[in-house]
Amino acid sequence: MIRLDNIVAKIKPYLTSDDIDEVKKAYAFSAKVHAGQKRYSGEPYMIHPMEVTSILADIKLDKESIITGLLHDTIEDTLATNDDIEKLFGKKVFNLVNGVTKIGQLKISSKFERQAENFRKLILATGKDIRVIIVKLADRLHNCRTIHYLPENKQTDFAKETMDLYAPLADRLGIYWIRTELEDISFKILKPHEYAEIEYAFANKKNDWEIYSTEIQGLLQDQLDKYGIKASIQSRFKNFYGIYKKMLSKNLDFNNVFDIKAFRVITNAESDCYAALGAVHSTWRPIPGRFKDYIALPKSNGYQSLHTNVLGPFGDKVEVQIRTNEMHEIAQYGVAAHWKYKLKHENIASKPINFPDSIQKIFDTQTLNDPKEFIDAVKDELITNFVYTFTPSGDLKELPVDSSIIDFAYSIHSDIGNSCYGGKVNGAIVPISYKLKSGDMVEIITKSEQVPKRDWLKYVVTSKAKTKIRSAIKTSLITDSIKIGKSVLSQKLLSYGINIDKKEVLEKLKEFSSIKKIKSLDEVFIKFSLSQINILEILSFMGIDIKNKSKATKASRVIDSSNAIVVGGNDNVMVRLAKCCSPIYGDEIIGHITIGKGISIHRISCNQILEIDPSRRIEAKWDKSFASKSSTKLKVSCFDKPGILSEVSNTIAKHDSNIITINAKQISSVKSSIYIELLVRDAEHLNDIVEDLSSIGDVNNVERLRNMNLEQIELNL
Ligand code: MN
Repeated sequence: MIRLDNIVAKIKPYLTSDDIDEVKKAYAFSAKVHAGQKRYSGEPYMIHPMEVTSILADIKLDKESIITGLLHDTIEDTLATNDDIEKLFGKKVFNLVNGVTKIGQLKISSKFERQAENFRKLILATGKDIRVIIVKLADRLHNCRTIHYLPENKQTDFAKETMDLYAPLADRLGIYWIRTELEDISFKILKPHEYAEIEYAFANKKNDWEIYSTEIQGLLQDQLDKYGIKASIQSRFKNFYGIYKKMLSKNLDFNNVFDIKAFRVITNAESDCYAALGAVHSTWRPIPGRFKDYIALPKSNGYQSLHTNVLGPFGDKVEVQIRTNEMHEIAQYGVAAHWKYKLKHENIASKPINFPDSIQKIFDTQTLNDPKEFIDAVKDELITNFVYTFTPSGDLKELPVDSSIIDFAYSIHSDIGNSCYGGKVNGAIVPISYKLKSGDMVEIITKSEQVPKRDWLKYVVTSKAKTKIRSAIKTSLITDSIKIGKSVLSQKLLSYGINIDKKEVLEKLKEFSSIKKIKSLDEVFIKFSLSQINILEILSFMGIDIKNKSKATKASRVIDSSNAIVVGGNDNVMVRLAKCCSPIYGDEIIGHITIGKGISIHRISCNQILEIDPSRRIEAKWDKSFASKSSTKLKVSCFDKPGILSEVSNTIAKHDSNIITINAKQISSVKSSIYIELLVRDAEHLNDIVEDLSSIGDVNNVERLRNMNLEQIELNL
């Protein structure tokens, strides 16, 4: 069982004896207020804050953080008050304990939206002091180490939350050993079978690997000695979850995951790193494309190292990482190490460390008010892998893996993103969906009339691009809805002799909006376009007697009592007939308020309309003045008899319909399909034709087509 002495032994090398006295005071206080409390394991509660503090001491965190570790559960779980903590341990410690407490009070839920909300609160609760997150990670780590004491139904949620939020967070802060431990514990809970398989396979091979790794280590050491490079060599195994991810992503079985072992060369100076790399590469052949220089281009969490893969002495792939002691410490302690170095150099104990860029970005995102967009931002920023690309002037742009030209454009400026028309990579034109690779020099081509497309969302991965595209689409959607709504409403009103452009009419409409508690006139048009306001409401508000419609208006126009779109006539509404189902007069129809293309009219049975967001559908009716003939397409399945084509075309001609095209295709030696495009007056007219065609003896079936079949064969008639 952990004792205070263990903690003191860990902090003694780097804290003063006054500091240690304060830590002891915090220990005494915490032990007193937690007295009598038990963990799920049945152990005294005090074990937990002590274990957490011990983890913090391992990372060599400062006095305030160490004290916070001891006190982190006192406000939440004991009778100790905010005042007690502040009076006894000062404002700084209180702020930290308070931050950790706030995080602890966030409700755990497996629901995605909840997680997002939790994480947003988590970040906000830190008060922007990164030590709060580190204490919370230590707290989470110890709770994970004892996860098997939790009731089983709580274990899964706890592990899931750890995997989704805390492991990525540890990664982003660069504290890899915490990340891997959190991952492996959660992995074991969430995928027990997969974990067991890897554990078994690993145990089977462990001995072989140990022999092998001693051999490689010896060979490496010889090489370094030969070149006079002072360095120590370590080897390590990838964590189980890392192996599992690799197996999944590369579709490998366990025996084919080669980089389970990595060798680390730790040098004294940066120049030695490159010398060591030379020694490794001159001994074993490097595998092309697998060298990464994180010294020249550090990861955004501050990680630095050279990574290379070589063909080892036994013809197998060997991963070697080369770094200095200082880089190694940063890789171990992450952000905490930066903080330590900062202390050493600046000697300002009280100054909180800055967040790494990637975490800062999360704080800076403007989406803190929208949980869904926020989690997007968080997930993006927590992605571990980046590509390093360059602007034409040589500026480095770090972007998440799978970023496209559009992501790059938005990373420069929103305006560049919004007007992005294409791009050149290393001088060559690439499609907008091109996925960037490290080293790409990217030039963005813009066009002033370009607007963001919904399609782009398929190609972008950065939160900035997503947010900007969504908001641009939203804006254009709104302008569109206003335009359509106003246009339709003005025509409706015109048929009652009311001119919407007249000042008094507009005033009256504004009055209507304020009575209906609608924010603005534009909002009235939007609601009207979405069928959320009925024309009758507006008319009755304006005191119009619906039955006595003004004689001054076109008498021929039939206004339905609903506020449906009227298709045809001389309407100015942007209405067009959808090509997918080619509705003709008399068909039952429905309108789709499109983005930027007005209202498109579909047959009510059209498959495409089913996929459209119901809020963008609008009722539609034919205007009786819609007289022109429309074209429609038929497929006639029949026996391939001589003269059948002329019989079919004669039948159509009898109905006073014009054939635009007629093609036939032989299906078998006896069967054919005839494709006909013809002009009809309305649905009734078409029905008569179909009925007559069906009654021809050799015709089996007549079918109305949504679109002409591409495979049709031209026939000379
Ligand atoms: Mn705790």
